[in-house]
Amino acid sequence: MKQDSIRPLLDQICTHMGNEQDRGAVASYIPELACIDPAHFAMSVCLPDGTQISVGDAKIEFSIQSVSKVFTLAIALGRHGDHFWTRVGREPSTHVFNSVQELEARDGIPPNPFVNAGAIATTDCLLVGATPKETLAEIVQFMRLAASDDAIFIDPDVASSEKETGHRNWALAHFLRSCGNLRHECELTLGTYFHHCALAMTAEQLARAGRFLAGIHPAGNLIAPGHIRSINALMMTCGHYNGSGEFAYRVGIPAKSGVGGGILAVLPNRASIAVWSPGLDRYGNSLLGTQALEILSQELCLSMFSVA
Ligand code: GLU
Repeated sequence: MKQDSIRPLLDQICTHMGNEQDRGAVASYIPELACIDPAHFAMSVCLPDGTQISVGDAKIEFSIQSVSKVFTLAIALGRHGDHFWTRVGREPSTHVFNSVQELEARDGIPPNPFVNAGAIATTDCLLVGATPKETLAEIVQFMRLAASDDAIFIDPDVASSEKETGHRNWALAHFLRSCGNLRHECELTLGTYFHHCALAMTAEQLARAGRFLAGIHPAGNLIAPGHIRSINALMMTCGHYNGSGEFAYRVGIPAKSGVGGGILAVLPNRASIAVWSPGLDRYGNSLLGTQALEILSQELCLSMFSVA
């Protein structure tokens, strides 16, 4: 990817997205997300030579929500290695991201670490030998190191709203526990899960945080290269809930979305890209964020499935 060609293209995409009438619907399950202006749009790209190119509202914080699941997976794999996969599967899901039915059909083993049940089990793995406070400190520390920015924080209002309204997540946690796949009290694991979903970050910070997955972090590999490969494979196959096939077809880049409207996309050895537009499509993925990545991918021939 060449620096000179990216800047004008990002400007073009940003203008295009500013004129879009259909922006999707912002998540409305908690007041902190429901009140976000759907007009926001931001995109930021980090390249191997250390340059970062950003457009739009790239310095405004948003709730990264499920994008945090990529980072908790990275820490969990580092801590537990392949043993982690005894608790969570590696298959995409055709069910909604918070499906209870699917968990029941799989005897309490979530299909992958990016659906809610899988992410809750992942958080539970992080709590082995540590308190929720220590675990959250470790997650925030990892995000700050990855993003080279000590200003990253967890939004306490988002975390407490999630806790109050997350009945489906409580159901998933109790179901996991009934199957022996949750080692800690639901309260402890979910409290930690709700807090890491409430990480607030800008598109610039998120793009920098993704550099280690592209193998372009200035401090070298933050995690084992084999774990990077595993995470990127999961982002490709499971990163967009039950819309992952559609995203692979349209964009063709490993990526993870969150209901705050953020998407982190990783091009191994070439770039880390973050996009934010709060309006969502019917799967809960950023409508314009996906569109923006689709244009970028097509214009620069970035899909992993393209031939020259
Ligand atoms: N905190 C949200 C939940 O657990 C995350 C949803 C998402 O971004 O997929 O439902």
